[in-house]
Amino acid sequence: MATPLLLGCIADDFTGATDLANNLVRGGMRTVQAIGVPRAPLQGDADAVVIALKSRTVPAADAVRESLQALAWLRAQGARQIFFKCCSTFDSTPDGNIGPVAEALMDALGTDFTIATPAFPDNQRTVFQGHLFVGDMLLSDSGMRDHPLTPMTDANLGRVLQAQCRRRVGLIDWRSVAAGPQAIRQRIDALRAEGVALAIADAVSNEDLLRLGAAVADLPLLTGGSGLAIGLPANFGLSPAPAASALPPPTGAQAILSGSCSQATNRQVAAFIRAGHAAFALDPPRIAAGEDLAAEALAWAAPRLADGPVLVYSTAEPDAVHAVQDRLGVQQAGALVERTLAAVARGLVARGVGQLVIAGGETSGACVQALDVTQLRIGPQIDPGVPWCHAQGPRGGLHLVLKSGNFGGDDFFAKAALL
Ligand code: ADP
Repeated sequence: MATPLLLGCIADDFTGATDLANNLVRGGMRTVQAIGVPRAPLQGDADAVVIALKSRTVPAADAVRESLQALAWLRAQGARQIFFKCCSTFDSTPDGNIGPVAEALMDALGTDFTIATPAFPDNQRTVFQGHLFVGDMLLSDSGMRDHPLTPMTDANLGRVLQAQCRRRVGLIDWRSVAAGPQAIRQRIDALRAEGVALAIADAVSNEDLLRLGAAVADLPLLTGGSGLAIGLPANFGLSPAPAASALPPPTGAQAILSGSCSQATNRQVAAFIRAGHAAFALDPPRIAAGEDLAAEALAWAAPRLADGPVLVYSTAEPDAVHAVQDRLGVQQAGALVERTLAAVARGLVARGVGQLVIAGGETSGACVQALDVTQLRIGPQIDPGVPWCHAQGPRGGLHLVLKSGNFGGDDFFAKAALL
């Protein structure tokens, strides 16, 4: 019988979910990331589950529906506290989705109060007097003002959230946060007495987040960025420990698939090839011409798998990518390459690969879907923000790394091969 879950998290996008899961593991919580609302119960023991939704920019009613489904699953696993994870730049529009989702979760949980803070000082996000700063700039002066989907033109988070909420929004000011957990709880009581239901919380340092974390141990619902997570494991008697990131022993052969064309990934591919490792380049025009490059790549890889990591990549410099996009169209080029790499992923696993590194956010999504992976246990970090993960399955399951574009040092692929 699995032990009941401690913390149940609902994240409004995939990379945000990984970011949160990574922080929880580092704080000592054994954490599983679920891709979408799981259809089956939790696989194995975990202290925290982070359900990754794609609800940041969908219509508010859809975000609410999916979030409530996630909540129902988390409660069925026994979650004692719920964490609604939003972006550390509070990405949203006047219609939501942070406010509508938070209020729907409050209704479902029967709670009259939640805090909301995107502060994550380690990532240059601080909140002071209810205003969000990105580095030394107000949010509204940062690049976020030009975001294509969720332009943020107001740094006053109280005003931003109030526009999305029926309930009253207030502020747990920095003076209270700095004075410690008891002062924060007193401030919460005072806000509640005034009829405030959601409070932006100031935090300019990790110490502030730790004080906040301790003060909100008894709240059924927390809303925030992944920074807020650093103060939560202690509430459940947990502290950083290697056991939290322990994964089953790796099995099978090693392979790397790279569909990212970011500068960092270009450097990583070049370094891997320079070090003398085996690499197979996919040529998008040949895929477009109807050639089965997945089969060709698999026939190339099969006899080499026993000798160490192999790399199959479409990674290219911007000029080459633009030339392909001009010919095929951006969407069409992306979809062709993603489909091919996903087919290679399936073929490699069928041929005994048990450790697979995937570079590229969209590429990872396509491969994980093709591999039918729905739950990932989060393991140790390879480079900041990029952990090893493990998906249960036949023959010891599959160890996976899902690296989004610009993450990782130049030697990332060689390092990842050292599990
Ligand atoms: P990142 O995390 O770096 O943004 P993604 O995988 O999210 O990487 O996005 C890269 C996109 O570029 C994918 O849709 C991928 O299929 C596409 N792509 C990869 N290689 C090429 C190429 N050589 N030419 C054109 N498009 C490519």
